[in-house]
Amino acid sequence: MDDPEDVYPPLKLLEKLKSYEGRPAGSGRGRDPVNAPMIRHWCEAMGDTNPAYAGADPIAPSTMLQAWTMGGLSGPVGRAAAYAELLDLLDSAGCTAVVATECEQEYLRPLRPGNVITYDAVIESVSPRKTTKLGTGHFVTTRMDVRADGELAGTHRFRILKYAPAKTYASTKTQEPAKSDRTGAEGNTARPRPVVNRDNAGFWDGVARRKLLIQRCDACAALRFPWLPGCGGCGSPEWTAVEASGAGTVFSYVVMHHPPFPAFDPPYAVVLIELAEGVRMISNVTRVAPERVRIGMPVELEFVRVDGGQLLPVFRAPAARAAR
Ligand code: ZN
Repeated sequence: MDDPEDVYPPLKLLEKLKSYEGRPAGSGRGRDPVNAPMIRHWCEAMGDTNPAYAGADPIAPSTMLQAWTMGGLSGPVGRAAAYAELLDLLDSAGCTAVVATECEQEYLRPLRPGNVITYDAVIESVSPRKTTKLGTGHFVTTRMDVRADGELAGTHRFRILKYAPAKTYASTKTQEPAKSDRTGAEGNTARPRPVVNRDNAGFWDGVARRKLLIQRCDACAALRFPWLPGCGGCGSPEWTAVEASGAGTVFSYVVMHHPPFPAFDPPYAVVLIELAEGVRMISNVTRVAPERVRIGMPVELEFVRVDGGQLLPVFRAPAARAAR
């Protein structure tokens, strides 16, 4: 594999990337005018009961701004060639991964049913090469102006990081394809590693000791999971880690068939476990075929090591194990 820096020396690449600043990222017209049914669906999904969004003369929640410009399942409407080219250029420089990092909106006037939405977006900036915990790459910021009946109603600024994942980037200095050092025990690409930060480090320390730790608020005794810096009930930042018994039941699940992710082997069940303590966590159920996972199935904690390294809490299905 060519070293991306041989193909695109950083300065030359940056010059090329910068040449996209100010070029169009897309434009178009909202599929539907602002309308009361979409406002109602949004408010129901968000649990927003503000009376301004209902009744005979509703306005749309400001945060719906981008929703009126979306193309739906059939794909983005009106993406400009320049934006696609910019992403291709970053791909060919090795920055094949993408993560949305920031969204900033400014509202100038409320939107009301009947307003016809038009929008145009520009590539506002492309950053010099930055190294983050995820990897090294470039931040790309687009700014979309949204108009209602031709009048500017708001702006939507969106920033992504196009990057070469950390391990892959480090290995570009060798002649070996980057993928080879991310290969797991089963020959698959290694699973993504958990992002450990100061808010959840205690949880992962527990996992390393084969303990499933949940947080208990020191002020109101509410249990919580996943780990958070404060109590969602009373706001207290004081907490104590308590060990879960490991018993639980399947609260809900989906069986993943598609799309396939390189590190996983479909079909597999992604399961929401309700622990005996009452909090819920996402995990996998082991020792049972995915199509035999059922809501209410009793499960028990166990720890598995994936890719020969990362220890993960999963849940085994004891009844199904006997059945197999
Ligand atoms: Zn509390």
